[in-house]
Amino acid sequence: MAKILIIGAGGVGSVVAHKCAQAAKETGVFEWITLASRTLSRCTDVARSVKARVGVDIDTAQVDADNVPELCQLIRQVKPDLVCNLALPYQDLHIMDACLECGVHYLDTANYEPLDTAKFEYKWQWAYADRFREAGLTALLGSGFDPGVTNVFAAWALKHELDEVHVLDIIDCNAGDHGQPFATNFNPEINIREVTAPGRYWERGEWVETDPLAWSMNYDFPDGIGSKKCYLMYHEELESLVRNLTGIRRARFWMTFSDNYLNHLKVLGNVGMTRIDPVRFQGQEIVPIQFLSALLPDPSSLGPLTKGKTCIGDVMRGVKDGREKTVYVYNICDHEACYAEVGSQAISYTTGVPAMIGAKMIAEGKWRRPGVWNMEQFDPDPFMADLNVYGLPWQCVEVK
Ligand code: NDP
Repeated sequence: MAKILIIGAGGVGSVVAHKCAQAAKETGVFEWITLASRTLSRCTDVARSVKARVGVDIDTAQVDADNVPELCQLIRQVKPDLVCNLALPYQDLHIMDACLECGVHYLDTANYEPLDTAKFEYKWQWAYADRFREAGLTALLGSGFDPGVTNVFAAWALKHELDEVHVLDIIDCNAGDHGQPFATNFNPEINIREVTAPGRYWERGEWVETDPLAWSMNYDFPDGIGSKKCYLMYHEELESLVRNLTGIRRARFWMTFSDNYLNHLKVLGNVGMTRIDPVRFQGQEIVPIQFLSALLPDPSSLGPLTKGKTCIGDVMRGVKDGREKTVYVYNICDHEACYAEVGSQAISYTTGVPAMIGAKMIAEGKWRRPGVWNMEQFDPDPFMADLNVYGLPWQCVEVK
């Protein structure tokens, strides 16, 4: 039994709160849940929904996660065993500092990014490994869907389906439609920073860079989704996977975008609205992407509007018993079913469920090991089993 402190009451934090409450009710794994965020009213709204949907009471608190003394004060008051970070990537290091100072385990779903550079690298967080190890604490990085489940799919395929993996393609398809002219499915600032960054993939021992969204392919998705255009992007799980999946020769990440989304993004980029550096406007400094983010629909407001499915999975080619073999491990998730269950669309849901399962793995001691870890570094089996139990069932098919 563990006490958990969830930080961040946005789209993903809300799903984590609901799913932790569900797991607490069904298994007793979480003894007490506190949800804290910058805006208290968002926490109380979520707490009300958790009580109505799951029948579990959770505590709420206000905190600025960029203020380490304030965070430590909250942690000492709540006394959690684990902090689950669902704020923004900018807060990762501050929350890790507070966890070290107060002696609690740590989990997040996105790697640290400095505010002024869109850089997706684990180096800042991996640099905490010695401190977490010496403190006897576990830090689990990237426990969302991608990164997160995609790392676990890879570890599972390597454990059960392949003796060696040579080629990995992670393919993220959102075939849902929210009917808005332009909206992002998770935090707009983080989403646009990611999509407008140069593409990058791993081949023959080195990184190869491409212009943003310069490469595309069509992929035929299962379950009636059909063929969709997918664009090559850099995504953070590639960095840890090429380190930890020995023998990998090529690793790439692909995501589907509609023409409408890309047209809007192009225009916004052309007029400077996606810039992340400050500009002077009427006597004050503003960061265009932050201003844009304030104008766009809140991702959590898309829940009741979004219809259709997501399909995210790993295509892995390698060798089994001396013969070439390709497997596809994937999950299909339905936006409307997610909304009916927890009041959120599938992007928040597919991130929040694995965050809860990662926390459960730490709470149960199955994934508790001092240090800083990526998801593929633990035994995938208990995590894969819980995906089936908590709403993200998966399939593995051989691709001929
Ligand atoms: P939202 O913008 O919906 O929510 C972020 C929440 O964090 C908000 O409630 C916000 O508070 C809070 N917050 C921001 N800054 C602070 C701060 N300084 N102190 C306390 N709270 C703060 O984002 P999402 O829920 O969509 O995303 C959450 C995280 O999940 C992000 O890091 C994102 O990158 C990650 N993610 C990971 C995915 C994966 O598959 N691995 C996929 C999708 C998202 P306020 O309400 O006051 O603004």
